[in-house]
Amino acid sequence: MTYDPDRTTVLPQVASPFPITEELPAVVGARRGPSGRWFLMVVGGLLIAGIIAIAALLIIDNRRSDQASSDDATTAPTLAPVVDVGQTPVPTAVELDASEGEARFVSTLSGLLNNAKVAYIPGVIVFCGVHFMAETAKILNPNKKVLLPDLNAGCSLAEACEAKDLKAFKEKHPDHLVVTYVNTSAEVKALSDICCTSSNAKKIVDSIPLDQPIIFAPDKNLGAYIIKETGRNMLLWEGACIVHEAFSIDKLITTHKAHPNAKIIAHPESEEHILKTAEYIGSTSGLINYAKTSPATEFIVATEAGILHEMQKEVPDKTLYPAPAVEDNTCACSECPYMKMNTMEKLYLCMKYELPEIHVPEDIQRQALVPIQRMLDISSK
Ligand code: SF4
Repeated sequence: MTYDPDRTTVLPQVASPFPITEELPAVVGARRGPSGRWFLMVVGGLLIAGIIAIAALLIIDNRRSDQASSDDATTAPTLAPVVDVGQTPVPTAVELDASEGEARFVSTLSGLLNNAKVAYIPGVIVFCGVHFMAETAKILNPNKKVLLPDLNAGCSLAEACEAKDLKAFKEKHPDHLVVTYVNTSAEVKALSDICCTSSNAKKIVDSIPLDQPIIFAPDKNLGAYIIKETGRNMLLWEGACIVHEAFSIDKLITTHKAHPNAKIIAHPESEEHILKTAEYIGSTSGLINYAKTSPATEFIVATEAGILHEMQKEVPDKTLYPAPAVEDNTCACSECPYMKMNTMEKLYLCMKYELPEIHVPEDIQRQALVPIQRMLDISSK
């Protein structure tokens, strides 16, 4: 295991697949201008959304002209409804409204494709998340084209568990069943018996007979939390999320002293000393639900800071404080550098050129589908 928690870049840098002469709409540059920043951000954001929707519709029209010619030529592209991917393995989330000419982003903060945002056009999934999520979408939708705006958007957990290392570990423990968190590569999933997410990990482990030894990979913090919850004695892999390991307990206590009525809530990828302070521990959807249903009006939230934007939309009248990171940074919080790699500019180019595409070899896709399907079956019971 070669995981180094201090690393900030874990995937080899992948060169841009787009023509280097590509010019972005002027408004994209204007968004960064120093004067009138807020006005330009609002106007720029609206224009970019419109440009992306128009570009997407043009792409759909151009690239599927053969199909269109056999249909009614005046019919707008069929638009899939927005659905909660926690209920279905087919991820859809950006609704392209032909009549309004706008792209509407819908978060999919639940279940299998946790923390991701995806754009949907018929036959194509544009996944604005990290690499393992896009791979999982491809495993579940092998006949669709799956795109990821930036192939460098990795994940420290997925990088912490390489297939060759897991294979060697399994050979040392041949009687163990392998449960892996979905934050893993397709190759690692192909070596696994059952996958899990943070919201169903306890249920998955509870479904395994008590006398069956288990390897839990790659998140040691989530694994330790599940051991505590289930009383199972699992072999834990030494992986961790760089974001959830970055919280400062001292600063958290200081923040709580400043806001004594705030409830501390935490994602189980956080370290044990952070979890010990938490009033509630849960997956992303669990945290949002808790903030919605709790009578409390203030929360200190120990999870990736970007999640707080979605949470705030759900609880507009409540106050959320991000749990502070050890490092002093501009946001005084813990942000995932990988999730921030997918920018509006990259999304625009990705939809325009239908690049870069995620490829999973067919044999890996078939093997990786088995533990995912087992997870879905157990979760649905
Ligand atoms: S927040 Fe952590 S687990 Fe999620 S993508 Fe970033 S590094 Fe991976």
